[in-house]
Amino acid sequence: MNILESIVVLKEILIISIKNMKKTTCRELRGSCDVEISGETPEEMGENSKKHVMEMVHSGDEGHKAAIESMQQLSKEEQMKWYEDFKSNFDSLPDA
Ligand SMILES: [Zn+2]
Repeated sequence: MNILESIVVLKEILIISIKNMKKTTCRELRGSCDVEISGETPEEMGENSKKHVMEMVHSGDEGHKAAIESMQQLSKEEQMKWYEDFKSNFDSLPDA
């Protein structure tokens, strides 16, 4: 391995180790309960939140069904804006 390659590898290790697991609640993500949702990136957290909401809906929970419906009532632009806000606030969430 040449010196340049080892610098790149070191940098990647550093980035991984400073990445923090963040947490929020289902309610903060427009859901309807206080279950904790965590993730290392906004994308991962979004996926975990979706999984949780889907599970709740499948088990017949009306609150989460209503939460999805309220999200669907937003326009595409509003949904995008919500997601952008969520992404820019991600770093200020508490560590999990
Ligand atoms: Zn929930």
